[in-house]
Amino acid sequence: MLDIKWIRDNREKVQEAADRKNIRLKVEDLLEADRVKRLLQQETEGLRQERNRLSREIGRLLAGRVEGRAEEAESLAEEVKGQAGDDKAEEAKGRVGLIQDKLNVLQPKLQDAERRFGQLMALVPNVVSPDTPDGESDEDNVELRRVGEPPAFPFEEADHVTLGERLGLLDLARGVKTGGSRSYYLKGAGVLLHRAVQQLAVDRLAAKGFTLLEVPVMVRTEAMRNTGYFPLGEEQTYRLAEEDKWLAGTSEVPLVSYYADEVVDLREPIRLAAVSACFRREVGSAGRDVHGLYRVHQFAKVEQVVLCEADPALSERLLQEITGHAEEILQLLELPYRVMAVCAGDMAQKTYKQYDIETWMPNRGAYGETHSASNLHDFQARRSRIQYRGADGKLHFCHTLNNTAVASPRILIPLLEIHQQEDGSVRIPDALQPYMGGRKELRA
Ligand code: AMP
Repeated sequence: MLDIKWIRDNREKVQEAADRKNIRLKVEDLLEADRVKRLLQQETEGLRQERNRLSREIGRLLAGRVEGRAEEAESLAEEVKGQAGDDKAEEAKGRVGLIQDKLNVLQPKLQDAERRFGQLMALVPNVVSPDTPDGESDEDNVELRRVGEPPAFPFEEADHVTLGERLGLLDLARGVKTGGSRSYYLKGAGVLLHRAVQQLAVDRLAAKGFTLLEVPVMVRTEAMRNTGYFPLGEEQTYRLAEEDKWLAGTSEVPLVSYYADEVVDLREPIRLAAVSACFRREVGSAGRDVHGLYRVHQFAKVEQVVLCEADPALSERLLQEITGHAEEILQLLELPYRVMAVCAGDMAQKTYKQYDIETWMPNRGAYGETHSASNLHDFQARRSRIQYRGADGKLHFCHTLNNTAVASPRILIPLLEIHQQEDGSVRIPDALQPYMGGRKELRA
C-alpha cells in the first residue's frame, strides 16, 4: 500500500506502475473516490459536531430547569435563538432530529464511499525500481549472470520422474490416486533428500544469524491482505471452508505478519527464516508443467524474510545479500543457475524490485525458476502497520524483503537430473552427504 498523500502528488508514477504491472486501476478513479469520501467525511463530521453541541445544550437547559437555575439556563440557551428555557430545549430537540435525519442519509453514503476507496486502494501497486526491465512476462526478464555449466552427458540421460521411480524415491501415480492432480508421494531416500536440502538451507541461514520460526500456515484473511497477496492473489489460495482462514502459499505471510501492528527495533535488520508447507491452487496453469514435480499444489519451502529501516540503499544491499544466500546453496548443491532481473509485467503488485534464480533442468533443456527474491520497500509494512522509531524520533514504516532459500521437491528435479550417472545411480553432492547419513550415491 502506498500513502494516499503520496499518490495524490505522484499520480503519474502510480498509473505507470499499474500499467506496467498489468493491474486494472485508473488512478483518477481512486483520486475521485478519495475526494468524494473526504467530502462526505467532512459533512458528516460537521453534522455530528453540531448534533453533539445541541445535545449538550439540551442537557444543560433541562438541568437548569430542574435545579431551578433559570438564569444559568437562560444564558446557556442564548445561542438557541434567545427563547425561554423549555421552548428552547424543544426547538433544539427538533434541530437534533433534523440533523439526525441528514446523518441517516449520509452515513450509508459515506460507508459506500469508504468501501469504494478501500477497494481501489487495495489495487494500488508498488512502484518499481528504476533498474527494473520493461516487459510483459517472464520471457522479457533479463539475464544478469550465469554460474556453472549445464552438463553434457556422454550417455542418454533420464528425466527426474524416471530416475525417481527407478530409484524408489517417488510415486506419482499413487500421489494422484490420493491427492488428485499435481500430487505426489516421496519415498525412502527421496524423503531424506527432500529433508536434506531443507536442513542444509536452515543450517546456512541459522549460521548467518537468521532467527528460525515454526509458523502457522493456516492464516487469517487479514494476514493475506496485509502482506499484499489479497485481493489480487485470492484465486490462487485455498480457503478453509467455514473459516475466515486460508492455506498460505508461502511462509512469507506468517513471517511478515509476526510483527504486524508493532513498533520494532531495527537498529539491526531483523532476519527471519521458516520451513513450511506451501499450498498453491495454480489456477491458470492447466496443462502447464504437468509432468513430474515441477508444478505441484503442495511443497516445502525454506524462506528468508528481512525487515530493515526504510533506507533504499540498505534494502538494496539486503536484496543482494539474500540473493547471495540462495546462490550459495545452489553452489553447495553443485547446480548450474542463472540470475534474472524480473521485468515489471512479471512482478507482483507488492514488488519494488525482483530477481529470480533459475536452475538448469536437463530434461526441460532449459533453466527453470527455483528462487524468487524481492524487495518490497514499505509496501507490506504499511499494510501490516509495522513501524520503527527512526533517528529523527519519528515512527516510520520499515522495508521488507524475502527470498527462497530452497524449495522442494522442485529442486529435486535438477538434483536428480544433473547428478545422474551412466549406471543409473545419482551422486549426492558433498554438502548434502552429512544430511543423508554419509551416503554418496542413490542406487536402486
Ligand atoms: P514464489 O513464492 O512464487 O516466488 O515461489 C518461490 C519458489 O517456490 C519457486 O521459485 C519454486 O521453487 C517454488 N514453487 C512455487 N510454486 C511452486 C509449485 N506450484 N510447485 C512447486 N514449487 C513451487
